[in-house]
Amino acid sequence: MTTGHSDTIVSARLKVLRAPTGDGVAMSFAPLRHRSMVMVELQTDDGRIGHGESWTNYPAWAAAERVATLREGVFPLVVGRTARHITDIHRTLTKELEPLGRQWGAPGPIMQAISAVDMALWDLRGKDQGVPVSALIGGRVREQSPVYASSFGPASVAEQFAMRAAEKHTAVKVKLGFGRERDESILTEIREAAGADITLYADANQAWSVGEATKMAALLKAFDVAWIEEPLRGNRLEDIEELHRRTGLTIATGENMYGREEFARYALSPAVAILQPDIAKTGGLTETLSICQVADAFRKPVLPHLYGGAIAFAATLQLAACVPAVRNIEYDIRDNPLRDPLAVDPPTPSAGMIRLPDGPGLGIELDGAMVDRYTQSSEEHLKESVG
Ligand SMILES: [Mg+2]
Repeated sequence: MTTGHSDTIVSARLKVLRAPTGDGVAMSFAPLRHRSMVMVELQTDDGRIGHGESWTNYPAWAAAERVATLREGVFPLVVGRTARHITDIHRTLTKELEPLGRQWGAPGPIMQAISAVDMALWDLRGKDQGVPVSALIGGRVREQSPVYASSFGPASVAEQFAMRAAEKHTAVKVKLGFGRERDESILTEIREAAGADITLYADANQAWSVGEATKMAALLKAFDVAWIEEPLRGNRLEDIEELHRRTGLTIATGENMYGREEFARYALSPAVAILQPDIAKTGGLTETLSICQVADAFRKPVLPHLYGGAIAFAATLQLAACVPAVRNIEYDIRDNPLRDPLAVDPPTPSAGMIRLPDGPGLGIELDGAMVDRYTQSSEEHLKESVG
């Protein structure tokens, strides 16, 4: 294909962004005190820049590892390549790096690093063509998507809901896994605040054993919780199947799963109702598109996990714009300086729907001054330096 330019990636830059959270998000396993991301910027020989984001919420030192993985492992395989060869670059990265991840016992960080590069390649491609990424992938199927408000609780549930009243949410998700008594008060508070008509979801962040989750089932049903996310410690499929046999609960999972093969195993099981890949974790847009095809083959809806910054948000909106299997988008309602403040005119939810941007590439424009404000460190990897 002739494009009029060579489309060579001449440099890869990474930036570590970090911002304190005003309301320190509690999880059943550990609090999230800072928002953080590693941003990847790939530049081609004609000066275009594509952006990607690697998820680094946990552990607190994840960014230090990610810088090393990108600098030592990923960038040398990317710089000098032709940017439009997205599938081939993705294949190179997974082929070369997955075996190292297996030996390391760390497939996650490897795929989280690849995710950022893959997102940046799609961003470059869309910008080159002057169209949103969603238009490159089979064309847009919708201009807005259902969205649900995520991350209520465990404390101040009513206040959190009141702060978001203007957005008129129609579905909300609460955090559980803080002990039965507290979980029951979270469910009571959200029902009192949001009313009987709102659709309610819950996320246990892998807090329970099969026995504990079985005991929680009656409570979840009493509060009309439509589905429970990651109920079980370890997220093993055999355990999920046992819980499903015992309770009939509608179970969602996927934010801690990596690659299409693992998703295929879960998608095949009648116990797993909803799949939740995270674009910034599981291997980028390329891998998530494969996961969506797998999910669709088993008629399982995809509700992408999203708990990161502006670039992962934008990429997820592009996915929703072109993949019918994506039915609903997670919208984190907690303080996050690295999401909306980082983008110019970020889409916001209204009455359970969100606009899907149609600008070139990932569809959003980053606010350079805000990126600089939260950048803790930055470094560049040039083609010359790898010979
Ligand atoms: Mg979750």
